[in-house]
Amino acid sequence: MTGRPALVVEGLDVGLGGLEILSGVNLRVPFGEVHAIMGPNGSGKSTFCHALAGKPGYRVSGSATVDGTALDGLPVDERAQAGLMCAFQYPVEVPGLELEVFLEEAAGARGTDPAETRDRMAAEAERFGMGEFLGRAVNGGLSGGETKTSEVFQAAVLRPKVLLLDEIDSGLDIDAVRKVAGAVSEMRGDEVAIVMITHYNRILNYVRPDRVHIMMGGRIVDSGGPRLADDLEEGGYEAVRARLGLQAPAPQPAERRPADFFTDTPFDL
Ligand code: ADP
Ligand code: MG
Repeated sequence: MTGRPALVVEGLDVGLGGLEILSGVNLRVPFGEVHAIMGPNGSGKSTFCHALAGKPGYRVSGSATVDGTALDGLPVDERAQAGLMCAFQYPVEVPGLELEVFLEEAAGARGTDPAETRDRMAAEAERFGMGEFLGRAVNGGLSGGETKTSEVFQAAVLRPKVLLLDEIDSGLDIDAVRKVAGAVSEMRGDEVAIVMITHYNRILNYVRPDRVHIMMGGRIVDSGGPRLADDLEEGGYEAVRARLGLQAPAPQPAERRPADFFTDTPFDL
């Protein structure tokens, strides 16, 4: 039995210039569930997040709703007000803006009373060990693990209905992965749907998803229970391609964007 849908994506196509990046993506995540989207580099995972968040520049068709509110055509801030929050693969540092002030403003824009926000910040800072970072600039001088923990802490204060976590585990050492996974587990609850995007299985050993979806070449090619992630660990994406009769992607062009060099964890633990 599946519960009330938090995120419903139907027939999502996303293009950029002459490139078709996502085609016909369907996803339904009920409140209370954690879903994982796994896929190799370049399969369109970050584009999925960016398109849902409302990043300009994409050609988008199809539909997406958050707790029944259609996101189609809405600006970024209205998507956030509808209950969507994305933790990006590469969170930006915002010099001069203290985390505490940022959260007060963001929560205020969503209609949360300032006293309530301060209470939540105090409680969540305690829970996530973020107290010392509240007076610092957003993501300023934080380690990889601290940055990703901060993203989950921000979500705990802002309480989105749908939380998209794009590679919350990439670039982290094993202790940091475990800590961030603990923070994500703390976020689980009946009032939120969490989508964890990752290309490694390891964080899923700590945060067991209810469903796993495999994205390849801009499509969700397979969905199943948490066992699917274990199968992937054993056989890799190559085995998935073989099982589904899919072609391996063409070799990457020699010219790569700077961000491509940081997409991969440089070591696998
Ligand atoms: P993933 O997050 O799964 O690694 P992305 O969504 O970042 O994949 O990228 C999917 C595909 O779209 C890749 O082939 C990538 O090179 C291409 N792409 C994404 N953003 C851009 C961009 N701004 N300009 C050109 N190509 C892009
Ligand atoms: Mg990505």
